[in-house]
Amino acid sequence: MRLTLTHTILIAMLIAILFGSISNLYFGDTSFILFFIGLSDAIGRIFLACLQLVVVPLVLVSILNAVINTHAGSSLGVIGFRSIFGYLLTTVFAISIGLLIANIFQPGIGSTLALDIPTVEVAETPNVIDVVVGFFPTNPFRALIDGNMIQVIILALIFGLAIRSIAVKVDTWIRYIDQGNTIMFEIVDRIIRISPIGVFALIFETFATEGFGIFLPLIDYFFIVILALLIHASVTYSLLLMLFGISPIKYFKNMQEPIFFAFSTASSAATIPVTLKALNEKCGIDRAISSFVIPIGATINMDGTAIMQGVAAVFISNLYGIDLVLMDYVMIVFTATLASIGTASVPSAGLIMLTIVLNQVGLPIEGIGLIIGVDRILDMVRTSINISGDGVISCIIAKLDGSFNRDRFLGSN
Ligand code: ASP
Repeated sequence: MRLTLTHTILIAMLIAILFGSISNLYFGDTSFILFFIGLSDAIGRIFLACLQLVVVPLVLVSILNAVINTHAGSSLGVIGFRSIFGYLLTTVFAISIGLLIANIFQPGIGSTLALDIPTVEVAETPNVIDVVVGFFPTNPFRALIDGNMIQVIILALIFGLAIRSIAVKVDTWIRYIDQGNTIMFEIVDRIIRISPIGVFALIFETFATEGFGIFLPLIDYFFIVILALLIHASVTYSLLLMLFGISPIKYFKNMQEPIFFAFSTASSAATIPVTLKALNEKCGIDRAISSFVIPIGATINMDGTAIMQGVAAVFISNLYGIDLVLMDYVMIVFTATLASIGTASVPSAGLIMLTIVLNQVGLPIEGIGLIIGVDRILDMVRTSINISGDGVISCIIAKLDGSFNRDRFLGSN
């Protein structure tokens, strides 16, 4: 069997998990292992920097390109509306699954966890009006420098529409934008080619530093979050895809690379370039669609994060012996869905937003101090779910738009 790049990335991940765990268990703080952890940390951060470096210019030029030469049947407004609706809907499903599974298994009931807890600060609850106003950039350079995805999308829309309306006068710009797009995807290609090394470094460092001791008291919470994440991927996403005549098995196969990237980086934003590439080349999604739907999704769609927040709320309520009533659950669904919009697509952001959810239903936010230890690994898994959800909605929108390329979807492997 020929070893594809995807196989190599998978092997790098598995070896990193194995070596990282063995190092942690048996060689903990020997200087030899500490040296390798330091080295992996440096390599991992450089790899991440390469990915992050390309995100903003890639999103900017690919949206410009899409607006200028839009082949999509649906108008951009319809695509935007459908994606936001789809994202919110799947997040509501996600959090409900999280709450349901947590209620069945009741993690933390009768726990002997010592409640000596660090202080945690509550994140500020986003004001919906301010959030919406904040989508509009006042300074194009600041939007790009801050890497504020929604602002970059709006910037690209404004410039793209202007360029399109005076196309004959600015044909040189149009050529540059098109070529800029090609350059960006070439860079992404090259980063993916060296990714087994970067993925190995990121995962080795995580597993070599995360002690196993930390997992044991939280084992029920940890596995219940994982179970709920898997149920959401295999039930909600699969049913949604099947509803639109798309094979879920093939979908997840085509999306392996971004899923592995999300797992190793724990950042939906850093994974955007790889998600865009897989959707276009393997899932047959027109770039005119994915270049909108994916950056919006990476910003507002956090199904995995919402699931973690639901399970964490039940876990913390059990630990403190605080009963949640039906109204609390409704509040959790509502707040976690809104909080997911405000959650930055970077590692651990979901944990910070969990403070809002807990605060809303009167649970002690200090409870977060208890789950922080296992959060990094959970973050890796939930980020994979977050980006899978972005891809599902992109496929559905392409299908509705009539631009879904079934042959490319089925023909790839
Ligand atoms: N790391 C997640 C993401 O980038 C966000 C979170 O749940 O912390 O999608």
